[in-house]
Amino acid sequence: MERQLDVLVAGAGPAGAVIAAQLAGHCTVALAGRTPSGRQIGESLPGAASVPLRDLGLWDRFLAQGHRPAWSHASAWGQSETVQRDALLDPQGHGWILGRTAFDGLLRDAATERGAEWLAGAMLRAAHHEPGARHPWLCELLTADGIPLRLRCRLLVDASGRSARAARLAGAAVHRTDKLVCLHAWLPPGRDTAAWAGATLIEAAPQGWWYSVQVPHGDTVLAFHTDADQPAVRECKTQAGLLAYAREQTLLIRARCEGLDARAQPVGIAPAYSQYCAAAAGVDWMAVGDAALAFDPLASQGLFNSLCTGLQGAQHAIAHLDGNAQALPAWTHHVDGVRAAYARNLAAYYAMEQRWPREPFWGRRLELAKAAAGAPAMAYS
Ligand SMILES: Cc1cc2nc3c(=O)[nH]c(=O)nc-3n(C[C@H](O)[C@H](O)[C@H](O)COP(=O)(O)OP(=O)(O)OC[C@H]3O[C@@H](n4cnc5c(N)ncnc54)[C@H](O)[C@@H]3O)c2cc1C
Repeated sequence: MERQLDVLVAGAGPAGAVIAAQLAGHCTVALAGRTPSGRQIGESLPGAASVPLRDLGLWDRFLAQGHRPAWSHASAWGQSETVQRDALLDPQGHGWILGRTAFDGLLRDAATERGAEWLAGAMLRAAHHEPGARHPWLCELLTADGIPLRLRCRLLVDASGRSARAARLAGAAVHRTDKLVCLHAWLPPGRDTAAWAGATLIEAAPQGWWYSVQVPHGDTVLAFHTDADQPAVRECKTQAGLLAYAREQTLLIRARCEGLDARAQPVGIAPAYSQYCAAAAGVDWMAVGDAALAFDPLASQGLFNSLCTGLQGAQHAIAHLDGNAQALPAWTHHVDGVRAAYARNLAAYYAMEQRWPREPFWGRRLELAKAAAGAPAMAYS
């Protein structure tokens, strides 16, 4: 007979780790997934994240990890001049430039320390739902060693990121709204490292937009965001190509590129499109983090959303396990509200850039802006 659990969380990124940590004191929960084999892009955490981190009881441990405060933000967006914003003026305090491996590890450690079972390396492959059964999901996983594992659970939580694997297995439709990709490299520090430490830079360019930041151990992230079908993707296949294209296409980012060196190594390519599940929950399943709603990196909200949906999702999961039939529909309703607000805010930000309306990248964003007009403003409750 298969082992029985209350909850299986598929995906051990930030969202999965947080919901598993929150559920561990209430029910039996297993957290399944792989830890990334290399560096992960996505290191800006807004100051507002101190609230969910305190709610999780992890604030002091987070501070002790030595992430770098993000003291300022410089952007060239909608105009060639740079606008500098000082974090001291932000009512939520400065944000953080994370060491992602340490940050994700902290959240996973919290889950296991609180009693979640860690199925390291196990990936969800199939899930069958038997309506009316006490443990309606029969889940099939494959361990890192290729050993099949079968589990039964009462609630299946999809925290598998953009793959939205469990939601798809449950029959949910998953929508993408654009074709954004991020071409990126971690380059050794340039000459004037100190001058740029703690500053995030964003710059719009004819084919897309650029981002750069110096991560805690000193390397500089250079990232270019464009649509997957744009010719610029070909120009930036290697680190040297990416750096050369940045020097050709930008002013603000070009200054940070001074003294940087790159080789003919391939760049990292990450999917960065906005994506959402048509419903963030269904019969005996729910999605959190990117699996429910994946943000354009321009929003810099993905990790914050993972923390929040992990925390808030846990409350809905517990209510569902306690027999509240409205708990999962209410989760869908909640995520729908966040999505509508996100779409409107993102469209408004892209619409601030009007210099290249005939370039396909920007023309498409202006179309999205028209479609998104009318949604409510962003709010987390
Ligand atoms: C280019 C880029 C830049 C970004 N920059 C930022 C930023 O600066 N700030 C910010 O806040 N956010 C940023 N983000 C977003 C942020 O990285 C994500 O929102 C965040 O990682 C989502 O966490 P998650 O736990 O939902 O998903 P993930 O971090 O994607 O974790 C999902 C996990 O599930 C696992 N998995 C997949 N399939 C299965 C399966 N079948 N079974 C079990 N496990 C599975 C995966 O291996 C992965 O480990 C960025 C994203 C991109 C693409």
